[in-house]
Amino acid sequence: FEKILIMHEAKDELTEMAMTFNRMIKRLEKSYTKQEQFVSDASHELKTPLTVIDSYVKLLKRWGKDRPDILEEAIDSIASESSRMKYLTEQFLQLAKSEECIENEKNTVNIVPIVEETIHRLQQAYKHEIHLKNEQREIHMNIHEQSFVQLLIILLDNAKKYSDNQIKVELKEWKKGVSISVTDKGIGIPFEAQAHVFDRLYRVDKTRNRKTGGSGLGLSIAKRIVEHHDGDITLESVEGNGSTFTFTLPKLEV
Ligand code: ADP
Repeated sequence: FEKILIMHEAKDELTEMAMTFNRMIKRLEKSYTKQEQFVSDASHELKTPLTVIDSYVKLLKRWGKDRPDILEEAIDSIASESSRMKYLTEQFLQLAKSEECIENEKNTVNIVPIVEETIHRLQQAYKHEIHLKNEQREIHMNIHEQSFVQLLIILLDNAKKYSDNQIKVELKEWKKGVSISVTDKGIGIPFEAQAHVFDRLYRVDKTRNRKTGGSGLGLSIAKRIVEHHDGDITLESVEGNGSTFTFTLPKLEV
């Protein structure tokens, strides 16, 4: 009887192991598919400006010497497509930046002047007024400063791209952390798209985004940065009535 009991226990253990193994394989497969998808998405995005550059170079070779109008158009297009490629490559590199890199370069700093300076700097380039609501002078956080600034820029740049009015930034300190929200009163995001905006290369509507020249990478980079700080980012939006992106970062335990 004891033997039967042991055999049963062994069988249970084996089933448990097989299930764990199965879960591990599934997780690995998923991350591999994600990487594959990323490489294919990235190449696809870079291919478009390359194709445009290629066709303008051909046009230049053929007509460039005799047709000043073609010469000018070709140079303008090549310049703008190559700067788009540069922008995309930088964003892809940022996405590929390793976790350790951000982890090893974190420092404890007062984030209040960093937020103020970033807003001040962007204000020079925006026609929108950026209004900061904040009651604190000092909030010390353990952050990777460059990524933190980039996170603010991504959210502010989106608010600028997708709205015409004032942008509100609110900085709140909690016992256990800090939350920063960026609110605009612009075009908003349809409910069905809200679950996807943090996905790589996702754009709500390619036609409405064409003129803003986005890449669909900004929010996925923002999400990654927040996650590298053990934080969380959420979105509240009503189509036609603006959006609020809020990220929360946990505070240093003292
Ligand atoms: P993009 O470079 O296209 O702006 P993001 O990843 O930053 O890429 O954003 C993904 C999509 O989410 C955008 O293409 C846009 O459709 C939508 N979106 C992001 N922020 C806003 C906002 N503040 N208001 C309206 N739509 C937004």
